[in-house]
Amino acid sequence: MERTRIIQVLKSETHGHGVLIKGWVRTRRDSRDVIFLEVNDGSCLDNIQVIIGEEMMKRPDLAQVSTGASVAVRGTLVESPAKGQKYEIRAGEVEVYGLADPESYPLQKKKHSFEFLREISHLRPRTNTFGAVFRIRNAMAMAIHSFFQEKGFLYVHTPIITASDCEGAGEMFNVTMLDLEKMKITGGKADFAEDFFGKKTSLTVSGQLEGELLALSLGDIYTFGPTFRAENSNTSRHLSEFWMVEPEMAFAVLDDDIRLAEEFIKRIFSLCLEKCGDDMAFFDSRIQPGIIKNLESIIRQDFEVVTYTEAVGILEKSGSAFEFPVGWGLDLQSEHERYLTENHFERPVFVIDYPREIKAFYMKLNDDEKTVRAMDLLVPGVGEIIGGSEREDRYDVLLRRMKDSGLDPDEYWWYLDSRRYGSAPHAGFGLGFERAIQYVTGMQNIRDVIPFPRTPRNAAF
Ligand code: ATP
Ligand code: MN
Repeated sequence: MERTRIIQVLKSETHGHGVLIKGWVRTRRDSRDVIFLEVNDGSCLDNIQVIIGEEMMKRPDLAQVSTGASVAVRGTLVESPAKGQKYEIRAGEVEVYGLADPESYPLQKKKHSFEFLREISHLRPRTNTFGAVFRIRNAMAMAIHSFFQEKGFLYVHTPIITASDCEGAGEMFNVTMLDLEKMKITGGKADFAEDFFGKKTSLTVSGQLEGELLALSLGDIYTFGPTFRAENSNTSRHLSEFWMVEPEMAFAVLDDDIRLAEEFIKRIFSLCLEKCGDDMAFFDSRIQPGIIKNLESIIRQDFEVVTYTEAVGILEKSGSAFEFPVGWGLDLQSEHERYLTENHFERPVFVIDYPREIKAFYMKLNDDEKTVRAMDLLVPGVGEIIGGSEREDRYDVLLRRMKDSGLDPDEYWWYLDSRRYGSAPHAGFGLGFERAIQYVTGMQNIRDVIPFPRTPRNAAF
């Protein structure tokens, strides 16, 4: 008999037939003549109750089965007399794969804090919350792929090891094979010409520049992969290793970019609600009450578009006491972003046309020479969730902007070539995958939406 996932068992239309399930015991309860096991296999939030009859109660391996043990149960699916569950399994055969010593197994049936669970990230996927988070993560990844695939975007892969400091988006992790131990002893200086790649290399902070090259050859593309930032920001919104989705559209301007981002957000949120109803109901009742309504209203609303200059005006007139100063030329802080989307517009808002000084060199310069065609999408509860722009497609302007930003054009000859040969308007954006999952689940800390988080001073598991 083939193993059935519990989600399938619970959905089955008929009782009275044989099933084989395999999973981990969540709880065990004994009455005089039966053992009740709640078993979960990670396929859904719900456990299935297994009834083990008197004839097996004396078996020594079964006597030791407790929370955390793994079992296979072959039995008959029957209608459950108990409240809150449609079916249970009357066990015919039980096989015990692995016991879990109740003295030391950390996940006993009590409420643990997320901080504690982070310390046991190797086991936390066995909890209700983390099971639900990782199923949502899966659904979101699939939603992202299906959104772009349906629109004809090509999924492309950009390098993880890079020799260019893309946009100076953040501090980069070095990749080196130089013998650091030896250098420390001899006091020698790093000679990257001697290094593995013959030059200084790092882990990528973004796949955008290479993504642009592919868009300017293949048309619309997207990347979806890991990115790395060695910044020492210990916040609930920053990871040292995170995943980013970066679409790039050829023959497109800022307006197209804005439309794509709005459609994209709405689509992935609604696919998530559609595919993960039970898990979403869990987040709604246990993590952030009202989150389903929030998402539904975002899907319904028209997003607002406002220029940076207008946004600064709104903030200056708001009369709110912000921690960080507001003024034309200063970057918007999280508190400002949240004021705009939560208090002022009460809906998602695109802020466009930022001052050139606070944005990357590759963003297209507006005719006013002061602002660039950037767009950040701000959403209630989080602030910036997407950052994008129309790219500078004019060779001379790009070269000038590069020099102004202190980048060495010789290092970027390949990027500049895309503007020398068949340049075309193009635009794209980046979505922090974990920020989006935070948004959908209501999880407060970004460390709790990735299985094994990497943050400053933590690379455990
Ligand atoms: P922030 O101001 O929040 O640090 P950023 O301006 O550095 O963001 P970008 O360089 O524009 O962000 O990166 C694109 C997207 O990647 C952001 O909109 C955000 O969703 C996400 N992101 C950026 N840094 C991190 C990080 N350290 N951990 C997780 N996601 C991140
Ligand atoms: Mn940052």
